[in-house]
Amino acid sequence: MEKIWLSSPTMHGEEMEFIKEAFDSNWVAPLGANVDGFERDVEAFMGGNIYAAALSAGTAAIHLAFRIIGIKPGDIVFGPSLTFAATVNPITYEGGIPVFIDSERESWNMDPAALEEAFKKYPDAKAVIVANLYGTPAKLKEIEDICDRHKVPLIEDAAESLGATYRGTPTGSFGEFGILSFNGNKIITTSGGGMLLSKDEKLVQKARFLSTQAREKARHYEHKEIGFNYRMSNIVAGIGRGQMKHLSEHVAKKKAIREEYSKAFSDIAEIKLNPFLPDSEPNYWLTCITIDSSSPVKPLDILEALEKENIESRPIWKPMHMQPVFKENAFVQVEEGTSVSQNIYDRGLCLPSDIKNSPEDMDRIVTTIRKLFGR
Ligand SMILES: *Cc1c(COP(=O)(O)O)cnc(C)c1O
Repeated sequence: MEKIWLSSPTMHGEEMEFIKEAFDSNWVAPLGANVDGFERDVEAFMGGNIYAAALSAGTAAIHLAFRIIGIKPGDIVFGPSLTFAATVNPITYEGGIPVFIDSERESWNMDPAALEEAFKKYPDAKAVIVANLYGTPAKLKEIEDICDRHKVPLIEDAAESLGATYRGTPTGSFGEFGILSFNGNKIITTSGGGMLLSKDEKLVQKARFLSTQAREKARHYEHKEIGFNYRMSNIVAGIGRGQMKHLSEHVAKKKAIREEYSKAFSDIAEIKLNPFLPDSEPNYWLTCITIDSSSPVKPLDILEALEKENIESRPIWKPMHMQPVFKENAFVQVEEGTSVSQNIYDRGLCLPSDIKNSPEDMDRIVTTIRKLFGR
């Protein structure tokens, strides 16, 4: 039985042409035509009013955002509890203290009501980072408004949501900074890489400067600030240029996968797909499900049954407020009791959403799951 992956890289051939160009011109280095070209491609895709700095990882982009905002040791920064650790880890690289915000049920992302609550408890908070989980936009406008009112910068972690829109605007363009990831399993990949986005060209120039060791414009090596080696390589950017040509096609295929799951489970009331807001269009990166707690079938049963069939699935991100490494950090929820993020984690599962899956592959997945529910 061939392995079915959760979400693996899908290459198209054009990537090799850009890489070959880099080899032929001997630009096997950071900087070069592919890095510039990839930035321009993403800027154009985002609608033309956004500037982009290509970096070695999405995590590096988040780190530079906090560095440029000026997070200092002891500063409180609000982040979602339900996310991948890379959303919030960089807060601590600058000595900041993450305070975790619970999710709402309509998109699984940061709850604006809980965020308001957090500002009451921590009026001196210095920044907010929001994530669009599994390619599903958060309540970005409400969150942006709250941040504006409290005069703190917002970072939008769009690592999983490139290609999604919220009220017609591409995700990654809300707040002070947006960040993208091109890690191996994301909607498009460069093998590894990320971007920092902003409407403010100066901030993006600053990110490019910091990502290349903060070297001043001087013939000798002059440094007035601490820098990083975070720039994307010209080879990696070549893969990105080839992938950008297929982003819309990837999104369309991801959407078709979701629709297929939706049909396949329409007669099993205990299964619900991950919800999205009516004024948003996700990129459908991963289709996830929750199972009603009354059901005898648990997410782990599905994960194990799929594993036996050599099919990869994955638990929902374990909330940050439940992580041993963050046990001292505060968590803010609207109602006491079981948190929404924990409830989603307890009942949820990410289904295989690889766009190379054949109809037979989808059949194998769906049949295995339906069997557990006695269908
Ligand atoms: C993948 C991911 C990141 C980190 O991106 P890298 O490119 O792997 O460093 C950050 N946030 C979220 C939500 C992610 O899924």
